[in-house]
Amino acid sequence: MSEQNRTSTHFQLNERLVFEEGSAGRRGFNLPALDVPQRRISEVVDQGMLRESIDGMPELSEVDVIRHFTRLSTWNYHIDLGLYPLGSCSMKYNPRINERMARLDGFMHAHPLMPNELIQGALEVQKALEQCLAEISGMDAVSLQPAAGAHGELTGILMIRAYHESKGRARTKILIPDSAHGTNPASVAISGYVVENVPSNAGGTVDLDSLRKAVDGEVAAIMITNPNTLGVFESQISEIAEVLHSHGALVYMDGANLNAMMGITRPGDFGADVLHINLHKTFTTPHGGGGPGSGPVAVRKILEPFLPYPTVGVKPDNSLFFDYDRPQSIGKMKAYNGQFGMHVRALCYILANGPEGLKEVSEIAVLNANYIRAKLKDSYALPYDSPTLHEVVFSDRIQARKDVHVGDIGKRLMDYGFHPPTVSFPLIVPGAIMIEPTETEPKQELDAFIDAMRVIAREAEETPEIVKKAPHTTRIGRIDEAGAARKPVLRWKSPTSPAR
Ligand SMILES: *Cc1c(COP(=O)(O)O)cnc(C)c1O
Repeated sequence: MSEQNRTSTHFQLNERLVFEEGSAGRRGFNLPALDVPQRRISEVVDQGMLRESIDGMPELSEVDVIRHFTRLSTWNYHIDLGLYPLGSCSMKYNPRINERMARLDGFMHAHPLMPNELIQGALEVQKALEQCLAEISGMDAVSLQPAAGAHGELTGILMIRAYHESKGRARTKILIPDSAHGTNPASVAISGYVVENVPSNAGGTVDLDSLRKAVDGEVAAIMITNPNTLGVFESQISEIAEVLHSHGALVYMDGANLNAMMGITRPGDFGADVLHINLHKTFTTPHGGGGPGSGPVAVRKILEPFLPYPTVGVKPDNSLFFDYDRPQSIGKMKAYNGQFGMHVRALCYILANGPEGLKEVSEIAVLNANYIRAKLKDSYALPYDSPTLHEVVFSDRIQARKDVHVGDIGKRLMDYGFHPPTVSFPLIVPGAIMIEPTETEPKQELDAFIDAMRVIAREAEETPEIVKKAPHTTRIGRIDEAGAARKPVLRWKSPTSPAR
């Protein structure tokens, strides 16, 4: 790739801000003459809720507004524009056919309060998806309710608590390896358990001796991410499960990233008792922008009574219904039975691929990550050299000698037209650069990314200032990221109207 920025055309677009461009009398709509009695707004809205005037509001035509938002959309980076290599996130392409199916009239207009007879098709989608996810994960039962991965974690841990309570005592601790995803300790703490860390060994997997020492009668479960956040498969997972089970404790597996193993191995076969699955990662439902996500939980038989209600029940005549009659259930985790539109998309993807196709998805996801690893290992340090699955973790150790750090590398990638990878995570790798290409990227895109990363490594060596001051081509350079999140400015203010 030339060093010229791939998206430079985006940045030559007119920068006018549409609000400043408005002029008095422009309108975005025309209404027909009123054919009902006119009432004053003050007759229907409480006085205290009315503003005295709305002077200073921009007046705009429809074309002004459409162009404004269309222009803004081109200033953004998104998965439909190019590689989005965030590790631990699976930002992959979502086939458009899924969208078509989710928008079929019968699905789109179904309401969960309709009589069961009228929503048999929608219930069948949910039942079929439950069965597919149970089969793929090797588990016995599934709830589609959780709205995200972290929400699935909370659901799973609450079920573990209910299970232990049913045996007499909730226990107090949950073990978490130090390579865990950040949501794990949060879910554990919210569920009222104490987190106890288990260290990793030099290969980046759980240290079995430390684990054995940590398990006692107070441990309710281990919460283990597999493949872990280093992209490494926990090859001793069956032994780990045995240690836990021999103390009456359970195994929660964080299965957010099943696209490293589906069709190849199954958590239920290597000892997991409960896991969540991120449909918005592995199963091509849209991801990011605040949702809606979907994080179903799959469980072994022993946990089935505790699944959130309603579940999709089957009557003797084989018709389906929302089953609320579940006395041991942990209760509701979400309105009705979760994000139905996501369920349609995920089922569509699973059926379109079939068993062989899903296996190939995993194989290509792993191949792509290993391709990047092989091509970049001479330019960036590899902190762990255990075999990589669907993602690969480098560090900035070589570049740091020139005071170029992982954040600088990420920002410089934007100049070359790529979204930055995950940086500074996982926490056990100082200066981590975590790359997950996914299976939906063509080789040309991977090569362009690899070229950009190599150019940046060379720049870090020869002209580090360029990298340290990046990005140079975006509309906004380095921002106060914490400030932007904590004190966001969300509203346009007229330069002429008095500050409110
Ligand atoms: C993404 C992810 C989660 C959290 O999922 P959300 O849908 O973002 O809540 C949990 N664990 C792992 C390993 C993940 O990759």
